[in-house]
Amino acid sequence: MTDKVLRIDVDQRPNASLPRRVSYSQMALYQQCGLKFYFSYLGGWREPPSAALACGSITHEVIEHLYRAPIEERTMDRAIELLREHGPRMLKSSDYKPYENDNAMKAQIRDAVENLFTLENPQEVVVQPEHLEMELTVDINGVNFFGKVDRFTQDGVNRVTDYKTGKSPGRFIDDKLAQPYLYALAFKLQHDIDVHEVELIFLNAKEVVRRPTDQGIMISMGEKLAVMRSGSEHDIAESAWDAKVQRLCDYCAFQEACPARNVLAAKPGTPESDEVLRQAGLTTRNS
Ligand code: SF4
Repeated sequence: MTDKVLRIDVDQRPNASLPRRVSYSQMALYQQCGLKFYFSYLGGWREPPSAALACGSITHEVIEHLYRAPIEERTMDRAIELLREHGPRMLKSSDYKPYENDNAMKAQIRDAVENLFTLENPQEVVVQPEHLEMELTVDINGVNFFGKVDRFTQDGVNRVTDYKTGKSPGRFIDDKLAQPYLYALAFKLQHDIDVHEVELIFLNAKEVVRRPTDQGIMISMGEKLAVMRSGSEHDIAESAWDAKVQRLCDYCAFQEACPARNVLAAKPGTPESDEVLRQAGLTTRNS
């Protein structure tokens, strides 16, 4: 997938530090491109919100509220009511306001919510409220890991479930399963609970993927987390990060300030580089 890897020196703040805790998305971002991780977590630049992000957030909110309701209230009518209650409210937030009139995105959310009822019967899902959007914080191989699990159920089978909006994963399904496998490892280490199955529910694609947990995959996910952490510690010590030039660069929010992509780009972290990102419409977490 990666066409070439270039080591890029950056102008790091003297007090720059790595995030104290590591999430799955941080790990995945670092694996995708170290320089992108630098822009995001060391530079503090926020990737702009997108219609896809708004769709995912609103759908997750509606489904969480649906599963917090008593079983007899988990009907399609109630789900649509929840969508009318939470959708407009969330679309008023500064991040999602640009998508307030995006009818295609709104139709995608409605499809996702409706499809849930064809993929499973919400009245048959037994779930404890504390197992919805459940936070995990645990040491994995010396790394302070944290994650939030969409749903954990125990119906004879202990299962970690994650909902996805958007397209079918197709041949990339194993990449998508990495996250719930890491959560299964975190469950074992934090709660001494054996997760038997991981599940991904692709709401728009109308697909459910379930796999038995695999000790080998779980252990390798824990090892990858440790490799990511030690790699980023090495990078911050050297003030240099690996830019992985690849197809996904076309969608990277930092491409105009990336020296691997644009030979005229200033050294990342300098005022000139920051100005390019500002001109591209990006903001920092502190702004
Ligand atoms: S444009 Fe490509 S190489 Fe540059 S930061 Fe983004 S993903 Fe990395």
